Amino acid sequence: MALIVKKFGGSSVATPEKIRAVVQRVLKEKKTEDKIVIVVSAMGDTTDELVTLAKRLTSKTYGREMDMLLATGEQVSIALMAMAFQAAGQPAISFTGGQAGITTSNAFNKGRILDLQPQRVHQALEAGNIVIVAGFQGMTADGDITTLGRGGSDTTAVAIAGAIHADVCEIFTDVDGIYTSDPRVVPEARKMDTITYGEMLEMAKLGAGVMQPRAVEMGSRFNVPIHVRSTFSEAKGTMIQEEYAMKIKQYLIRGVAQDNNVAKITVLGIPNRPGFAYKIFSELADKNVDVDMIVQSVRIAKEGVTDITFTIARTELSAAQEVLHHIRAEMNVEDILVDDGMAKVSLVGAGMAGHPGIAAGMFGILSDNGINIEIISTSEISISCLIAEESVNKAVQAIHAHFFAEE
Ligand code: ADP
Ligand code: ASP
Ligand code: MG
Repeated sequence: MALIVKKFGGSSVATPEKIRAVVQRVLKEKKTEDKIVIVVSAMGDTTDELVTLAKRLTSKTYGREMDMLLATGEQVSIALMAMAFQAAGQPAISFTGGQAGITTSNAFNKGRILDLQPQRVHQALEAGNIVIVAGFQGMTADGDITTLGRGGSDTTAVAIAGAIHADVCEIFTDVDGIYTSDPRVVPEARKMDTITYGEMLEMAKLGAGVMQPRAVEMGSRFNVPIHVRSTFSEAKGTMIQEEYAMKIKQYLIRGVAQDNNVAKITVLGIPNRPGFAYKIFSELADKNVDVDMIVQSVRIAKEGVTDITFTIARTELSAAQEVLHHIRAEMNVEDILVDDGMAKVSLVGAGMAGHPGIAAGMFGILSDNGINIEIISTSEISISCLIAEESVNKAVQAIHAHFFAEE
């Protein structure tokens, strides 16, 4: 007997026909004794459409009500999928995130799973059901509905797999595994058979949207083997797992990631005294705006002032604007510049540390292509460059071609 969590993304359940195809595939592959939990996303582009709907009413962000709205997408797909299983003669029951026992923080739009009590899931499995859980959502301790951030169904799936000690968490999507770069941007990208949690986490954080970073983190914490594979083919995909389980050589470079959801903010002429950076970033933190790259530079030409440039997700710009208005009004700064046309390109690989030639190679490729680097940041296993969004596809393609040239 195997205990398996299978997650189907939006494109896999975009239409009733696709839902039926998923149901048929699951039933065909299921061995009699297998216990199966299915996590589903909202159908097709439903979440985007719901976001657009809200934007037509207001440009302000209303966390709680937005989550109330967004969570409906997944509720549609779980109900339809449970009906489709029942129509095929297989007992099935659908649960919202809250019903599945998922308790989150009360950070609306980006709730964190704090606790998962899967008793109801266990009971339903024992009673012979396939259990279908709404991805991307949970409930606060006070009973409010929350969502887990875009792509959050991955996290729901891995969290449930961890909580019920599933043998594997299968992420079914519209690509047949993890590639060295987004195959939509780099057609010659290569599929990997395996990748470590650490490298996948870095790829995901740096924009490889195939997995939500928190899902990878959770997989690593609870040691859940994650198999990313295609809904539309039976081919083996990519296993995300611990390094010791991998029988492959240590790769110097694993992939090229891009993040187009970037805005750059520059606060010019800040008094160069203690406390100003603290004020800006604590106000952003209070609004739940995550800051990514930060550069502070002291102006040689003008004493006593400094400039701070930082990046945030473009989708959080309207929340950040409220803080910027406040800073403009309260603090004696010269100006605040916002550029919402930026992107980040990153090279990822656990073997990169200690090979300074790799960074030089990446900068050289950008220079050869006439692409200006605005900010550089590095971690143990990655190098990232902030560039204009209009150049990012070209940058990713050129960097990939250089580092993954046919041996
Ligand atoms: P789902 O709706 O199934 O969750 P997503 O759109 O969230 O699907 O994720 C799948 C997409 O991730 C792919 O279509 C692909 O364009 C994109 N992607 C980005 N980087 C990578 C990568 N390194 N490997 C595979 N896919 C990637
Ligand atoms: N439906 C949500 C989204 O589009 C969650 C997910 O698909 O993982 O972000
Ligand atoms: Mg996704």
